[in-house]
Amino acid sequence: MMPTPLRIAGLIEHAAKWHADTEIVSRLPEGGLHRYTYAAAHHRAKQLAQALIKLGITDGDRVGTLAWNTHRHFELYYGVSGLGAVCHTINPRLFVEQLIYIINHAQDRLLFFDLTFLPLVEKLAPHCPTVEKWVLLTGPEHLPAASALPGLTDYESLLAAETGDYEWPVLDENTASSLCYTSGTTDEPKGVLYSHRSTLLHSYAASLPDCFNCGARDVILAVVPMFHVNAWGIPYLAPLNGCKLVLPGPALDAASLYELFESEKVTFSAGVPTIWFGLLTFMREGKRRFSTLRKMIVGGASCPPALLRAFDEELGIEIRHAWGMSETSPLGTVSTLKGKHLELPEDAKFFLKIKQGRVIFGVDMEIVDEAGQPLPHDGVAFGDLLVRGPFIASDYFGSVQPGALTASGWFKTGDVATIDPDGFMNITDRSKDVIKSGGEWISSIDLENLAIAHPAIAEAAVIGVPHPKWSERPLLVAVRKPGFEVSAEELLAFFDGKIATWWRPDAVEFVTQLPHTATGKLLKTQLRKDFAGYELG
Ligand code: AMP
Repeated sequence: MMPTPLRIAGLIEHAAKWHADTEIVSRLPEGGLHRYTYAAAHHRAKQLAQALIKLGITDGDRVGTLAWNTHRHFELYYGVSGLGAVCHTINPRLFVEQLIYIINHAQDRLLFFDLTFLPLVEKLAPHCPTVEKWVLLTGPEHLPAASALPGLTDYESLLAAETGDYEWPVLDENTASSLCYTSGTTDEPKGVLYSHRSTLLHSYAASLPDCFNCGARDVILAVVPMFHVNAWGIPYLAPLNGCKLVLPGPALDAASLYELFESEKVTFSAGVPTIWFGLLTFMREGKRRFSTLRKMIVGGASCPPALLRAFDEELGIEIRHAWGMSETSPLGTVSTLKGKHLELPEDAKFFLKIKQGRVIFGVDMEIVDEAGQPLPHDGVAFGDLLVRGPFIASDYFGSVQPGALTASGWFKTGDVATIDPDGFMNITDRSKDVIKSGGEWISSIDLENLAIAHPAIAEAAVIGVPHPKWSERPLLVAVRKPGFEVSAEELLAFFDGKIATWWRPDAVEFVTQLPHTATGKLLKTQLRKDFAGYELG
């Protein structure tokens, strides 16, 4: 066989040749929709590569982005990685100190950013000495008259100076291609460095029928941000499959998304539960229906059963629950039923669909106990989840202390899970969040899912608090929906008959809001601080 290396530029070359007139539609931060084709995108990605080379960017250099999902960000994915440099996508929702840390740690040489982030970038720039040039992702008409940013240029002028007459280099497939930092809740952010090979293998795997199931008839709307684990691979698998790609820019509110779903005839989308909850409320309020949307992925955090049920049964969307992490590129498992499950009663099917699901090819997983011994795949035993494979990280970028892997080469996810005999994995907790009561583990996620199934509860978190006899017991911290009333006793009574009695939280505290990380996950470290010294009555 030919030793053709797997390269990211190969994806856009393929789309430009075989899906030349398939569209990419973006909502711009400056306002309005931008529409062009894979052929045009390829040409501009090559112009960008020429501009980057002129600016001295070479193999392995990091080029940062602080940007929404738009066609220009898409071009950066290809222009930067295609020439052999590393596209470093940065999450603008992180705290300023974290952003400064990340940019310095990655030693970004250039930084491309959207207009929305100009005030933020002006705060960052004095603390980021490695950045030689800041580039505003817009045309010259939006460039501020005066700016303190060194060598501020606009993106369109950079491209306009180039011909696009450029051949992508034939890189070794193990060349680094992109970089994304995970937002640690306690530790410093850690960088995950992807390669051309890992990205291509992940793109093939993500396209499979039991995963995203995408083809040239699909129109994909990438709700999941391109600054968070490469938008779960969508900017790569769309050109691989010749899908039309819709990029929502900064407008992630339900009304703007729904407008794009309908006007662009979107068939597939992927996002986190919070976004889908917002959309669900909007759909219900206006008694709206989707005309073309058929399937969607929910992941990045545990999918509340009520959300899955609503999209599935009320709106008729095939919604699949997926699990992954930055270190797994990110897709690890998707909860797609097997043929033998189709005859099961609805409740039994739902029980499987709400799990985090089965591995996709390219990922192997195991669960182990505290001594590292494998646990049975019986759907009951739960332990630390380990994964390995060609698109799983073996260490962190620039890490001085290796230790991400076990002695036998598995990546420790930090999640705690069960695996059933059909291979369906179910996350019960983060290992740090598990509640250990009298030596037995209680799943905080199961309790949270139950709490938010109560009609008066908007959001809930369960943490372990010290107990003299059991060492730890669960405390439920809940936010009531506006205009709803429920007492602690009523809420606790709601758990009866739904879980083992000893899992029932010992107490409830109502708060007006819960703390979240920049990626929207519950910040339990903060909650544990807030409730430090809490005494159970
Ligand atoms: P990140 O690297 O920021 O994407 O975070 C990865 C972590 O998010 C995982 O280790 C899980 O703890 C959590 N996570 C992702 N998807 C799910 C899911 N479907 N259910 C429960 N937790 C999830």
